[in-house]
Amino acid sequence: MSDEGYFPQGTLIGVLTTQPLDRVLDYRAPEGGCFAGAFVEVPLGPRKVMGVVWGPGQGDFDASKVRSVIRVLDAPPMREELRDFLRRAADYTLTPLSAMLRLATRAPGLGDAPSMRRVYRLGDGMPDRATAARARVLEVLREFGGLSFTLKELAEMAGVSTSVVKGLVAQGAVREEESPRDTPFPRLDTDLPGKPLTDDQAAAAAHLRAALSGGYGTTLLKGVTGSGKTEVYLEAVAEAVRGGRQALVLLPEIALTSEFLTRVEQRFGARPAEWHSGVTMTERRRIWKMAAQGEVQLVVGARSALFLPFQHLGLIIVDEEHDTSYKQEDGVLYNARDMAVLRASIVGAQVVLASATPSLESWANAEAGKYARVELTARFGDAVLPEMRAIDMRAETLPSGRWISPTLERAVTARMERGEQSLLFINRRGFAPVTLCRACGQQIGCDHCDARMVEHRFLKRLMCHQCGETTPIPTACPSCGVEDKLAPVGPGVERLAEEAIALFPEARIVTLSSDLFASARALKAAIDQIAQGGADIVIGTQLVAKGHNFPNLTLVGVIDSDLGLQGSDLRAAERTFQLMRQVAGRAGRAAIPGQALLQTYQPEHPVIRAILSGDETGFWQAELRERSAAGVPPYGRMAGIILSGGDVARVFDAGNTLARNDGALREIGAQVFGPAPAPIARVRGRHRVRLLVKAAKGAPLQGALSRWIAPLRLTGDLRLQVDIDPQSF
Ligand code: ADP
Ligand code: ZN
Repeated sequence: MSDEGYFPQGTLIGVLTTQPLDRVLDYRAPEGGCFAGAFVEVPLGPRKVMGVVWGPGQGDFDASKVRSVIRVLDAPPMREELRDFLRRAADYTLTPLSAMLRLATRAPGLGDAPSMRRVYRLGDGMPDRATAARARVLEVLREFGGLSFTLKELAEMAGVSTSVVKGLVAQGAVREEESPRDTPFPRLDTDLPGKPLTDDQAAAAAHLRAALSGGYGTTLLKGVTGSGKTEVYLEAVAEAVRGGRQALVLLPEIALTSEFLTRVEQRFGARPAEWHSGVTMTERRRIWKMAAQGEVQLVVGARSALFLPFQHLGLIIVDEEHDTSYKQEDGVLYNARDMAVLRASIVGAQVVLASATPSLESWANAEAGKYARVELTARFGDAVLPEMRAIDMRAETLPSGRWISPTLERAVTARMERGEQSLLFINRRGFAPVTLCRACGQQIGCDHCDARMVEHRFLKRLMCHQCGETTPIPTACPSCGVEDKLAPVGPGVERLAEEAIALFPEARIVTLSSDLFASARALKAAIDQIAQGGADIVIGTQLVAKGHNFPNLTLVGVIDSDLGLQGSDLRAAERTFQLMRQVAGRAGRAAIPGQALLQTYQPEHPVIRAILSGDETGFWQAELRERSAAGVPPYGRMAGIILSGGDVARVFDAGNTLARNDGALREIGAQVFGPAPAPIARVRGRHRVRLLVKAAKGAPLQGALSRWIAPLRLTGDLRLQVDIDPQSF
């Protein structure tokens, strides 16, 4: 590190802590001095907290009261590039810098843990007395061959107390040794040959490889499901790693990770690092440190992996870039796709946005020449795109309480006769979206949210999909108290499964919904079972729409294609279009052509027609014209201000105060709409009110927003959240 960021002992420095204070605090550099970016421990009031040396001090404190840094922690310092990224991400999302730092320091016990740890492995001795508990410990160690474990891991795996292990150590049956805490990751073998690419794929891969020799750039890699996008971007990963740079692959769904890891292992002979909420704290600590030391070549993970301290990040892949789950809707509101572009532009890395159905934003950026665009038009091998057809539900006779039309039923039967698989898709979890009392007409709602309680028959409970609250299914109506009059209304995935079981009694039916699986492993097992032909009919929510490959699946029936078209959300058309194409893409991946049947009451709706005709370009252009006319993204900028609190009148008052005092917004020509109830108007007992701000594309929105909201006093339980680029508008 250069001397530039060095602060000799006693110099005034600014330290950013993860405490919820929106400012950098002054301290004095400790004995021996410190560098900018160093992780340090500082006194804060009566406590000691962790922080990062952010730069020179401000000197706006009484100099005699400035305290000294306690010590520099044993952790790789935060590089200038990452500090810059956090600063700019904070400015963009109008989030306090300390909250950004929290995202970047999710590894626990940072700097505190010694670099060696005690591990336990099989010893040569024999226990003096064989107990069941002792036998289990030895069995675990034998089963895992030469591996060693920490005391806690071993005890947990064997289901014994740690003293049992200690006892075995005393007798020499288990060996205790010191080992470096962080075992290195196996190196990826980038010399292993990939699959021979088709001409299209080879051209796309060549483009991505060539881009890696320049600085920052973003490429939209567009290609229908099964066209080999993954195959192609793994070539870019290989190139980056060969050049000694690190790569990051973001996936929208944890459930997709294990399939992907296996694929990487097949391609490069080693598994990459895996980063998401399901990864243990120890493992996260290891990845965090090794990323900083440049020892991790490839990280596969969720959006939070963007905040890892990579030493020389060269490539970020955002797979299924259009996926709405890239937008974090809790805490810091950021879109991982946009933040990936920001980080790459700072560090001079390449970004690949991969999708069969890109977001309108990315599409528009490619049209405008801001992003390069590479397309794969054909499916790999003999696979062809499924034929898309509507089932006009107005012409079908269906008894009430049934959702599978006779036409769809016949199509499924035909597939079963041919030994092929069908997928019935509905984008609704649970058994029924509404539980209605036939005596008083009331629907059962959540006590804390503006949401209905959804019946989950499998769990035997009602559940609120907003706050997760569950209650046993009551027998009497909570409103009028009459017994046995509660009835489910409308279809959910579990109810559809029940209907399918009645309609196709001989079929092997597998239902895929996030509620039905206790673990990612159980879900993976179900997916493998389907892929290997162990099911005739798959019933699923959007969990199945993403990325899984079922070679024998030739029919997709969409139960309720119109579901996403209701409501006034301007993004609804885009979402429905993407989801329908994604789901349809599950059919006919191997040599057998597929078919997608869309049950709809509005076959003439422009979105449904665009889906059926497959006229993507036409659809996008029409959408872009509408967005342009409305002045909304990607042609204008939007921000939401969400106010929340327990007292609805006070929350609205605050909203009205903001709306009235909109001088700062008018200065930049921005308009404010609302206050109105937020898309989710009440969550966990808090009322939510939203103001929407619309500005021209180049307008300095963030600055105006901060000047606008600064005077608002947040008293009592009133909270304000800024949502730049809201998902719905
Ligand atoms: P996408 O990411 O666009 O959905 P994939 O990369 O997953 O597509 O490819 C779909 C399937 O086709 C995968 O099973 C993949 O291994 C296979 N495949 C794609 N390209 C090739 C190729 N050139 N040679 C062999 N198999 C390929
Ligand atoms: Zn609720």
